[in-house]
Amino acid sequence: MAKYKIEVDRDLCIGDAACCGEAPNTFEMDDENIAVVTDADGHTDEEILQAAQVCPVDAITLTDTDTGEKVWPEE
Ligand code: SF4
Repeated sequence: MAKYKIEVDRDLCIGDAACCGEAPNTFEMDDENIAVVTDADGHTDEEILQAAQVCPVDAITLTDTDTGEKVWPEE
């Protein structure tokens, strides 16, 4: 079970595909060149966190599904 609820802010995403390079089983570019989540269980929690952290515009939000707390981006 995925630990994180993963959301991509389509208004922030600049389409550089950095998240896909980091976690290709979880993120994919759609036909508008915006990242979408294809499989929240495609990578380990740590790999998904790293993919969110490489996003240059913090467009990826991770929420811990157990606690409901926002894990990334840091406030
Ligand atoms: S790393 Fe961020 S800006 Fe780049 S494609 Fe992924 S969500 Fe979009």
